[in-house]
Amino acid sequence: MNKLALTTIYMLLGGYMAIFAGNLPINIAHRGACAYLPEHTLPAKALAYGMQADYIEQDVVLTKDDRALVIHDIHLDTVTDVAEKFPGRARADGRYYALDFTLAEIRTLKACERFNIASGTAVFAGRFPLWKSDFRLHTLEEEIELIQGLNHSTGRNVGIYPEIKDPAWHREQGHDISPIVIRILADYGYTKAEDKVYLQCFDFAELKRVKSELKCELKLIQLTEEDFDVASVASYAVGIGPWIKQLISGFDKDGRPIISDLAAQAKAHGLEMHPYTFRVDALPDGISAEKLLDTLFNEIGVDGIFSDFPDVSRDFIRTRVKAR
Ligand code: CA
Repeated sequence: MNKLALTTIYMLLGGYMAIFAGNLPINIAHRGACAYLPEHTLPAKALAYGMQADYIEQDVVLTKDDRALVIHDIHLDTVTDVAEKFPGRARADGRYYALDFTLAEIRTLKACERFNIASGTAVFAGRFPLWKSDFRLHTLEEEIELIQGLNHSTGRNVGIYPEIKDPAWHREQGHDISPIVIRILADYGYTKAEDKVYLQCFDFAELKRVKSELKCELKLIQLTEEDFDVASVASYAVGIGPWIKQLISGFDKDGRPIISDLAAQAKAHGLEMHPYTFRVDALPDGISAEKLLDTLFNEIGVDGIFSDFPDVSRDFIRTRVKAR
């Protein structure tokens, strides 16, 4: 039997085993299918849905009128034409903040692929061309309605994965973002741990508050970017969203990934692991896309991945993730 046939059988068997293992890791579309369409636009979310993501991510910030806007930054100026449409509305630091604009004003902006403010050029040169077609920003409610609508029309059950952005900064500015996000989620039926939603945040104190003070029963994911107390996080969160470099700290002299002990600690505390971010066009130095996914899923045993390329991560999960 030739090598190709053997490989094909191996892949089919791997997929078969994974399917029947019943606990495949989840494929989380990071900002939608943002490798292909501008991040956090409804078309990028619809494409992620079509690529059969299991969960679709929403980053949430507030507008001046306390509406929940889906956008990655508290600033509008790296993904819209705000500087052109509203000259003079920047703060002293030269930046345009979503919190200084009403939703009605924000709806007049064109959205586009992420760009560098100083140079005006795209952050990812190979992605959707800047300023082409017509994209807009939208609210958390509108995105949930898109996903729930698709769940209705397709019979699938894709989850949502909202992130509360910069809650401490919002509070300093006189706005309390977490209760607003939690209320919207409840309005759309997301109230219990078994509902198809993970709620994520980088702010440790805020996520604890979401659990203890705001009495949120949803599955909470603590995002992390540096060392932290794993036991403490396990007291309120079901999992962590670590930076990939917290799990793979480097490579040995033979080029093999060095796995940090965070994964073992997380598992010992029963925490799920959903690392960020898988980008075929911005891989860590020294590793291929295939090897990175193999290391994360088959060596470290992560439970999901934030992916800019939900089609690539989906194919890997379905065909190459080993039975657990
Ligand atoms: Ca995010």
